[in-house]
Order: sequence, then structure tokens, then C-alpha cells
Amino acid sequence: MVDRRMDPSGKPSTAQVLLLATSSALTAVFYSVYSRRSTTVARLKEAKKVSIDQDLKNILTEAPGKCVPYAVIEGVVRSVKETLNSQFVDNCRGVIERLTLKEKKMVWNRTTHLWNESEKVIHQRTNAVPFDLASHDEAVAASVRVVRPLDSYELDLETTYENFHPTVQTLTNVIGHFISGERPKGIHETEEMLRLGGCVTGVGELVLDNDLVKLQPPKQGLRYFLSRLDYDSLVEKQCNSVRVWRILTVVFGVVASSTLLYILWKQWAYHRQRRKERNVLEEFKERQRRRMRELNVDEASVSPSACTVCLSRERSCVFLECGHVCACDQCYQALPGPKKCPICRGTIDRVVPLYNS
Ligand SMILES: [Zn+2]
Ligand SMILES: [Zn+2]
Repeated sequence: MVDRRMDPSGKPSTAQVLLLATSSALTAVFYSVYSRRSTTVARLKEAKKVSIDQDLKNILTEAPGKCVPYAVIEGVVRSVKETLNSQFVDNCRGVIERLTLKEKKMVWNRTTHLWNESEKVIHQRTNAVPFDLASHDEAVAASVRVVRPLDSYELDLETTYENFHPTVQTLTNVIGHFISGERPKGIHETEEMLRLGGCVTGVGELVLDNDLVKLQPPKQGLRYFLSRLDYDSLVEKQCNSVRVWRILTVVFGVVASSTLLYILWKQWAYHRQRRKERNVLEEFKERQRRRMRELNVDEASVSPSACTVCLSRERSCVFLECGHVCACDQCYQALPGPKKCPICRGTIDRVVPLYNS
């Protein structure tokens, strides 16, 4: 039977095309992040673990190019010459200090009609002094100089101070805020430090340069890590992030492929339906020609609007649900039960009389 509700062209709707395009694009993006992250994790797991001890220099002297391309070093932060003092906390000393000022404000959303909190970094300053990673055992003199620590990925520092300075509200500026749609809340100030004596895991290139062991950013494709986590937790954290991207990739991949399958199925069903309709019509015409020969009626003498059963009276009713107008009322009444449409052989649920005016 002909489904009249079907899109006449069988083409996918704009919404379906949009869904397919967006989900495919997101799958591609998520997959590329996932694959990059999983490579990072694989490299991180392969990195050579080197301990800070008397053998350190020997290992490097024997290594090709006096270098371990990707090494894991765990040690304690020790200053080389100078140290940085916390500006807020007494007796708090470190080698990296980062001050951040964030402006917090409420922004009026004209679409949802709600105040949303937003925050913006308005000032950030990072100071660093050269430092070493040394053994936990103070008797061991060996140490590793950390080069370009600020280039490391997700440098995680310890928050040593934070404070919130609320904005003073006066009546005039409150009115002004309602007009502008922005209401400042205040300034959030934080100080973060890499403190002396803190444990750090560094992953990078280890080189022996003029009797000084250096940890520096590794070659292209490898990531430089300086983390307060131990090595296992660092790997675990990276694995979790890979898992998140993998889940996102799978979810959007499933959405994209099911949308594509649905569109293809719709197309296939549409073409199958069309083919069926054509076959039914051909069959009907063939039957009709046979009848005309039997009745000895000339095809040209039959009116195009004549009933297809008796070939003489005018067609006068519509068969539902197929919608064919092909017979006169008398011929309909004479159809053997259960009554079927003479053209498509579909069951006739209802008959609507046709009034020609
Ligand atoms: Zn008839
Ligand atoms: Zn029909």
C-alpha cells in the first residue's frame, strides 16, 4: 500500500543531514584528541625510569649522545641559588610562584533571562628561579636541573593563598548594572607555588651537559610533564582522560552511524516502495488490456475517466486508505468480499463517494 505520509522525494530532512554532519564532525574531532592522548599515555608508559643516585651520571655517560630521550625522574625540589618567598604566607618558599587575578561577574543572558556567573583572568604573572630535583635521601649528592619548567604540560602548583575581594555596590552602579546587563561580583586572587621540598615527577629528555644533568622538554611528539603526583598517579590521570575522549568518540560515532543507517534505510524503503507501485500498476494495465481484448473493446474508445471494472460508467468513489479513484459505485458494490482495490489489491477500509460538480 502507498504510504502517503512518506516524504515524496525520499530525501533525508535538513534536521537529519545536520545531525549526521555535526555528529560525524564531532566524532572526527574527539577521535583525533583521543588518538593523540592515547599516544601520549603509551609514550609515558614506555618512558625509562631513572632514579637520582650516584649511578645517574654513569648511565648518561654510557647512553648514546649522553641522553635518555624520554625519562621519568622523581625527586624533591631544591633551589639552586635564590628562592621565591610567598607574598602572603610567612616562611613559605618555593621556586615557581604564580599570581592570578580573576574577575568574577554575573552576566545577564538575554535568551534564558537568567544571570550567569562568568569569570575572566585579568592578570597572571609567573615567576620562576632555576631549581633541581634531588634525591629523597639527603646523603645522595646527585641532582637534576629542571630546564624551562613553564613549558611543561599542566604544570600543577600548590595553592598557597586565595582571597576574594567583593565589589562595593552603590545604588547608582546597581542601576547601571541592570542597564548594561553585567554585574561585577569581585576579584578572586590566588597565589600558587612549587614549594621547596615538594615531591615532583618530571618526564622529559634527560641529558648530561658539562657535568650537569638536565631534564628538558623532549623531542616533538613527546610531552613534558612536571607534576606533584607520583608516576603511577600521573599515568592513571592521563588514562582517565583518554577514557573520557574514547567514550565521547564512541557515543558520537554511534549517533553518526545510526543516523547514516537510518537515512540509507529510508532511501532504500522509498525506492522499494516505488518499485512495488510500478509493478502493481504494470500488472493492472496488463490485466486491463486482457479484459479489453476479451470484451472486444477498442482501447481508444474507452474514456480515461471510465470505471476500470465495467469500462463504461464514470468513476465515482475513492478507496481508502490507498486513495485510488478507479471504479464506479455499482462495481464497488459488486466486488467480492473481502473487498480489495482493483489497482493495488490493497484492502478497502472506507469508501468516499466522489461528487462531480
Ligand atoms: Zn464500473
Ligand atoms: Zn488502490
